Amino acid sequence: MKPSELVIAIDGPAGAGKSTVAKALARDLGLRFLDTGAMYRALAVKAKRAGLGPEDGVAAAVLGQQTEIGFSAGEPQRVLLDGEDVTDAIRTLEIGELASALSAFSEIRRVLVARQQVIVAAGGVVLEGRDATTVIAPHAHVKVYLTASLEERARRRHVEMAAKGQAPAYGEVRQEVERRDHRDITRQDSPLSVAEGATVVETGGLSAEEVVNAIRLLADVAVRAG
Ligand code: C5P
Repeated sequence: MKPSELVIAIDGPAGAGKSTVAKALARDLGLRFLDTGAMYRALAVKAKRAGLGPEDGVAAAVLGQQTEIGFSAGEPQRVLLDGEDVTDAIRTLEIGELASALSAFSEIRRVLVARQQVIVAAGGVVLEGRDATTVIAPHAHVKVYLTASLEERARRRHVEMAAKGQAPAYGEVRQEVERRDHRDITRQDSPLSVAEGATVVETGGLSAEEVVNAIRLLADVAVRAG
């Protein structure tokens, strides 16, 4: 297999560092980057604007069918909702919460997973989310489950939000991360879990670079194995 054809799928709970690591891997290996959570968040923005709430998954799925969610090429990658740049608008606690609630609806997952699979089918991609290794790309060449303690993940999320000028209290972020994890792990459809054949990487105490290097080794092995 050519390295440019690699499919690397990464799952894990909120704040485990999936986006940072997936982005760096994609850049280093010349692959595309697919942030599947950004698609749930973009749809949540559209649902909120339409006056829909966390219980309105079926209506939001119908809305989703008429919604274009895309990514711009280049760095940093921008998230486009019907052509509008919503890169910053999707990163609030409120939208994260709504995305999490709506993502429990199978109707919504069907719409977004089908689109994600089309993107992945072309190969040459690093994707990350909650069902990347189990549902979207169970046949990925490299499957990784990134995790860290709740405190560590909440701390990272808090620092990330503060850097963007948002200032929720640490306790609020921790509560939010815990609530989302619980929902993602206990939902009926595609719960967050460690896929068969996935490598679990505990990222506490590791730098992003160290995690990226570890996954690059797994990618090298996959390329050599053909
Ligand atoms: O990864 P991120 O925090 O941006 O995702 C927002 C929410 O979307 C998550 O809390 C999760 O509930 C949901 N999600 C999902 N499946 C994915 C990606 C995200 O259910 N593949």
